[in-house]
Amino acid sequence: MSERGIESLRTPLLAAAREARRRAYAPYSGYAVGAAVCDEDGRIFSGANVENASYGLTVCAERVALFRAVSEGARRIVAVAVVTRDGGTPCGACRQVLAEFASEDALVWCASEENGQVEEYRVGELLPLAFRFQTQPSAEDELTLGGM
Ligand SMILES: [Zn+2]
Repeated sequence: MSERGIESLRTPLLAAAREARRRAYAPYSGYAVGAAVCDEDGRIFSGANVENASYGLTVCAERVALFRAVSEGARRIVAVAVVTRDGGTPCGACRQVLAEFASEDALVWCASEENGQVEEYRVGELLPLAFRFQTQPSAEDELTLGGM
């Protein structure tokens, strides 16, 4: 998808994230988040944060949207929109998950419902030096793993 094509996603992606935010389940923090991702085929998937009484089980809106996309067959995310009350950016965990499916130059728009402002970031800017799993163990790894 061309850079111009990706830029044209900004309005519909933010609208999808804003709509998803209305369905957030955030009774503990009160911080509703909506997110939407677009894959290379132009398909949009949205998600809202889902909190839990056992706080650690809470899942962020960004990961809900990403996992929905991946479970529907998406593998390459080209743009992301996140809508919060104050323009909050994705947490570290979500940045790492995003880095799995988006290139460093994929766009991330973060919108504030309070003032309507939208900030634009690149995935590589939000998470430089993202962890990448080496698919083939090195000789040293094989020693550590007991020659598995
Ligand atoms: Zn997160």
